Amino acid sequence: EPDDTPAPGTPDAEFENSLRPRRLSEVVGQRKVVERLGITLDAARRRGEPLGHLLLDGPPGLGKTTLATVVPRELDPDGGPGNIQFTSGPALRAPHDLVAYLTCATRGSVLFIDEIHRLPPAVEEYLYPAMEDFRVDIVMGEGTGARTVSLNIEPFTVIGATTRSGMLTAPLRDRFVNHERVEYYEVSDLAEIVRRNAAKLGLTVEGDAAEQLARRSRGTPRKANNLLRWCRDFTQVHSERGVLTPTLAARALEMREVDALGLEDQDRRYLRTIIEAFAGGPVGLSTLSHALSVPTDTLEDEVEPYLLRCGLMQRTSRGRVATVRAWEHLGLDRAADGGS
Ligand code: ADP
Repeated sequence: EPDDTPAPGTPDAEFENSLRPRRLSEVVGQRKVVERLGITLDAARRRGEPLGHLLLDGPPGLGKTTLATVVPRELDPDGGPGNIQFTSGPALRAPHDLVAYLTCATRGSVLFIDEIHRLPPAVEEYLYPAMEDFRVDIVMGEGTGARTVSLNIEPFTVIGATTRSGMLTAPLRDRFVNHERVEYYEVSDLAEIVRRNAAKLGLTVEGDAAEQLARRSRGTPRKANNLLRWCRDFTQVHSERGVLTPTLAARALEMREVDALGLEDQDRRYLRTIIEAFAGGPVGLSTLSHALSVPTDTLEDEVEPYLLRCGLMQRTSRGRVATVRAWEHLGLDRAADGGS
């Protein structure tokens, strides 16, 4: 499992859902995205219309699903959860797989399509009239007697999530009137998420323990939640008072092998490989992927964005290059390696 997105229905997914913000006002950080979405939602509410189709773009674990689940709740006049259906690009293999979702869509409901850049072309084309005119074409009968019936469906909202908006075809991208990009979080926002979620889990956090977790979360709320979960177990075993103190947090984090920048084993292995096997680069993505036995997608979507943000590597026209900072971070001597 490259990305740590939990599979639906598992205890991990339940843990994640239990910590998900329910209203827009509970969403921490991403201020501009939240402000813009607030206005679009307010306008839709006043007009009594569904929200325009929304594309959410950004690395895994930054809140795309969370924002999608907030939308129908915000539009539900009774303050209920609203109606949202979940599917994903790879799960929709043929237009046929999409029909039930479309015909089940109620007025103002949301159809969340994760990894929308992986929709097969035939499914994508089938989605166009549904998004544009709220219409689906259904083939009745077989062979020469077959005819196509056009069916009206309820006005609804597609929320597409992608780690790669660049891979979307132009016609699909154009059908989204709203496009938001979620970014890595500031430490202060992550600390706030840790504190709120610790309270939800009934764990007392003292001193700067929440900041410590936040600093090692790789800018990602999902990582922060996972570290919090680990710290809760650690506290249960090691603290009689059941309190996560800064000292206890430091011990728990040390055991988890997340370093000061939040890098995990896979991130360090990536940098080490560029430095030790390819003299610091440049090295091509596919070469690196082979050397690490990690798919190129995973490297591009999950590993590199954060390393780039930390200034530990660069993408050049000739390939990936480790920066001086990478040597320093790993405690390696650049001169000894003959790096230039
Ligand atoms: P994505 O869909 O981008 O992979 P998710 O929406 O599933 O990410 O987020 C993972 C978890 O991180 C959620 O369960 C939620 O607890 C937490 N989370 C994400 N974004 C936020 C946020 N802005 N505020 C509070 N918690 C968040």
